[in-house]
Amino acid sequence: MALTGQLYIGRTRRATSRTFHAADPARNASVEPAFSAASAADVQAACELAWKAFDSYRTLPAQRRAEFLDAIADNILGLGDELLQRAQLESGLPLARLTGERGRTISQLKLFASELRRGGWQTVTIDPALPTRAPLPRPDLRQRQIPLGPVAVFGASNFPLAFSVAGGDTASALAAGCPVIVKGHSAHPGTSELVASALIAAADACDMPDGVFSLLNGSGQEVGGALVAHPHIKAVGFTGSRNGGLALMQIAASRPEPIPVYAEMSSINPVLLLPNALQERAESLAQGFISSLTLGAGQFCTNPGLLLAIDGPALNQFIAAASAALSQTPAALMLTSGIHSAYRKGVDQLSAHDKVTTLAQGQPETSSNCGQPALFGVTASAVLADTNILQEVFGAASIIVRCGDEAQLREVLEHLEGQLTATLHLTDGDHELAQRLLPILERKAGRILANGWPTGVEVCHAMVHGGPFPATSDSRTTSVGTRAIERFLRPVCYQDIPDALLPAVLRADAQQHLPHRLDGVYHGE
Ligand code: NAP
Repeated sequence: MALTGQLYIGRTRRATSRTFHAADPARNASVEPAFSAASAADVQAACELAWKAFDSYRTLPAQRRAEFLDAIADNILGLGDELLQRAQLESGLPLARLTGERGRTISQLKLFASELRRGGWQTVTIDPALPTRAPLPRPDLRQRQIPLGPVAVFGASNFPLAFSVAGGDTASALAAGCPVIVKGHSAHPGTSELVASALIAAADACDMPDGVFSLLNGSGQEVGGALVAHPHIKAVGFTGSRNGGLALMQIAASRPEPIPVYAEMSSINPVLLLPNALQERAESLAQGFISSLTLGAGQFCTNPGLLLAIDGPALNQFIAAASAALSQTPAALMLTSGIHSAYRKGVDQLSAHDKVTTLAQGQPETSSNCGQPALFGVTASAVLADTNILQEVFGAASIIVRCGDEAQLREVLEHLEGQLTATLHLTDGDHELAQRLLPILERKAGRILANGWPTGVEVCHAMVHGGPFPATSDSRTTSVGTRAIERFLRPVCYQDIPDALLPAVLRADAQQHLPHRLDGVYHGE
């Protein structure tokens, strides 16, 4: 498919006079074609259309929305190698990684389709009338979930497929019954256009209302800001920097009608090496750590940016093995020149800090936008004196904190900000210590792992990809897995509404086909 660089305002393509180009990070060169940047009028048009589409889209039977999600998945696969090649050109990510990411994108669309067919997401809850109850009768009360309204989704730079135009935020919002307007990431507009074409073709084939999806490109501050401020937008999904997420939260909160922002921002994903595990397998832990740290040039939100352990010979052995492994690791191409320079800046700041030791560096950078991995060491006392040392450096950089004893380890943990993940490496002999640490980790993180590495997020029902601020803006939710749909739904209760006027899922004869809660008791599935 020839790229046109045009926007999608619903089904209508539009070119504008202001344009920009994608860049190939490997060559540090701009690539064709030119892409149109949306104007304020385009934002207005897309929001009007999404609002117009909302009622007809949300009232479609869940089965129709499931067919739509399945069709999007099939069409993305149908784009074939062209999609992977364009994504590689614009992101510098290897084809094998992008092939895996496409698989994840397709499977999460299909997972939400199957979730729609099951019906549990509607949380149908019925408390039938108790007309003879004394002293007062109870009315008939029925509850279900309805979608919030049009959602603005910001594509992420580090997942050009799985967290971009038809990624997790879009899939969960469309599943919930919300039209979606994507603010495409400026780093991969060609990839975005290809995926948007697959999505619009699916909307056509499934006879979806015009406006169920739009793609707007352009500057975050102008286009993204206007989108979040628009009164027809009712929620926001975002993955990116802390500054970007905070700016959007601010806009959303200062609207006349504030709206929720589900922003995934900054996490350093602490990994705790407990004493017996460290004693037993320092070398293999070091290998596993460096593999996880340098995977995808470290550009994962779950990258292990912080390691904590109690000081001693086993920790020295671990550091020696990790340093040796890291020094063999080549510098790796990063997603954009901006992300590369932010990484360099973060590494330079840590190197220059008088309390931080550079333990090892990977192979030097040989071409543009390649990030040289880096490993730093610091004492717990230094961290407690200056917690800024623990700011996220997005890329393959990590810092090892030497703690004097358990009390100091706990103190550092208490000073950590909210995290997507926290990992424990342990043996049976570490269980008592782990038991004492778990309550702190529960307060700090959305996902707690044992004897694994945080990179690699399973898309399933039990996953939590979330966590307290600044990992996300709302720790009550997840952006990965089926529960992500809950972000875009709200409950409505119907009291004594005649059966003929109730939504189909709440009518007297509907529940036998659906999981539901009747008088407090769960039924179905
Ligand atoms: P970003 O700068 O936050 O950009 C993400 C999206 O938000 C882009 O579409 C951007 O628009 C928009 N945006 C940024 N600031 C905005 C603002 N003030 N108002 C409205 N929209 C705004 O993130 P990035 O470009 O992907 O990467 C930059 C840094 O983000 C990285 O160095 C890293 O620190 C962090 N990051 C974190 C994660 C994570 O998973 N936690 C993932 C990726 C990146 P433009 O198109 O104008 O840029």
